[in-house]
Amino acid sequence: MDEIEQKREEWRKKAQEVGKNVVAPRASEIDAKGEFSWDIVEVFAKEGFLSLLIPKEYGGRDGDITSFCLIAEEIAKYCASSALLVIVQAVGTMPIALGGTEELKKNYLTKISREGKLVCFCLTEPETGSDAASIRTKAVRKDGHYLLNGTKVFITNGGVADFYTVFATTNPGKKMEGITGFVVEKGAPGLSVGKTENKMGIRGSNTTEVILNEVEVPVSQRVGDEGVGWWLMMRTLNRSRPAIAAQAVGLAQGALDYVIQYGRERDWAKKRDEMCGIHFQLADMAVEIEAARALAYKSARMMDEKVKGTPVQMFSAMAKYFASDVAMKVTTNAVQILQWEGLTKSHPVERMMRDAKVIQIFEGTNQIQRKVVAHTLLKE
Ligand SMILES: Cc1cc2nc3c(=O)[nH]c(=O)nc-3n(C[C@H](O)[C@H](O)[C@H](O)COP(=O)(O)OP(=O)(O)OC[C@H]3O[C@@H](n4cnc5c(N)ncnc54)[C@H](O)[C@@H]3O)c2cc1C
Repeated sequence: MDEIEQKREEWRKKAQEVGKNVVAPRASEIDAKGEFSWDIVEVFAKEGFLSLLIPKEYGGRDGDITSFCLIAEEIAKYCASSALLVIVQAVGTMPIALGGTEELKKNYLTKISREGKLVCFCLTEPETGSDAASIRTKAVRKDGHYLLNGTKVFITNGGVADFYTVFATTNPGKKMEGITGFVVEKGAPGLSVGKTENKMGIRGSNTTEVILNEVEVPVSQRVGDEGVGWWLMMRTLNRSRPAIAAQAVGLAQGALDYVIQYGRERDWAKKRDEMCGIHFQLADMAVEIEAARALAYKSARMMDEKVKGTPVQMFSAMAKYFASDVAMKVTTNAVQILQWEGLTKSHPVERMMRDAKVIQIFEGTNQIQRKVVAHTLLKE
């Protein structure tokens, strides 16, 4: 095993231990109460999961996308909400790491990695989700600052973050070329948190409205030049979609592992004839999870190895939608196999099924991912 592989294996082992010992005992309570788990934040920050992709020079762990996926997968086996905590921290951080000035990186990345600060990614608006190029939140330059006005919705960590990576338009006529990123600090006058969503799944993740009313943001808190926000956002999402795929793989594996254990306790292995239907279902679930895992890590590897001439965005999109569709199918089958017991809170599979539905929707719906794949295939 080379040094890179060794490092990845260390991350996987660490996440496996934290998943089993810290996350698993809390998963059902987090879901039932729909509560944001500060105790888990503390452990994840200490272990370096929340500063994984931040370069060492800013106090981070210099991890790669494959390690990011391994952590998301191991944690999601027990709790998809907790895995999302790791993912959203990276999503909020990446635009700064990819496009921020040295001053911005030194200030914010260092605080995120050394002081355990939380960050969120504010793109979606009431009128624009999939059609992100049409965002209406405006940033108007005035003297040495910008004035931000608009409303963001469905923002993960919106109510608990210290820093908000906000995308706004500095030139509405230019659509994607008019989008610019900013870092806004919690407590900035005019920044407020609106409704907290009461979701069917991923209930332990905090999802809120974020309202910007005449928020004054210094020019030094702009991420990159005016108009480069779209590309920073896309580069970020191309890197995080493999981890969303890994989250879905972990969730599906967690459901399958549970059903297998349930079957072992009831001697299903010996009941070959009467349980033949279920045996076939278990085999299909295992095969589909392996296929999703292969695609997730292929897309991660392409990012890490900066493979030239291949459409990495297509593989990220493929991995995200295939893995989350597999998670939906596997968790639904897990509930079906356990029958009425599967519907009850005595087993985790009904929670896993609700969580899988959410993964098909966020970070770009699975319909939009299919559009990305088809568009890339047809491009000359
Ligand atoms: C739990 C959760 C957490 C989230 N966290 C964040 C976050 O942290 N930051 C953030 O910015 N956003 C976040 N989102 C928002 C998420 O990314 C959007 O919900 C998603 O992109 C879809 O946007 P929408 O809900 O407005 O649906 P719409 O874009 O209105 O789409 C509605 C339906 O139409 C389909 N559709 C739309 N356009 C097309 C098309 N051109 N072709 C085919 N089908 C189409 C969609 O697939 C969908 O089924 C989160 C969402 C959820 C559920």
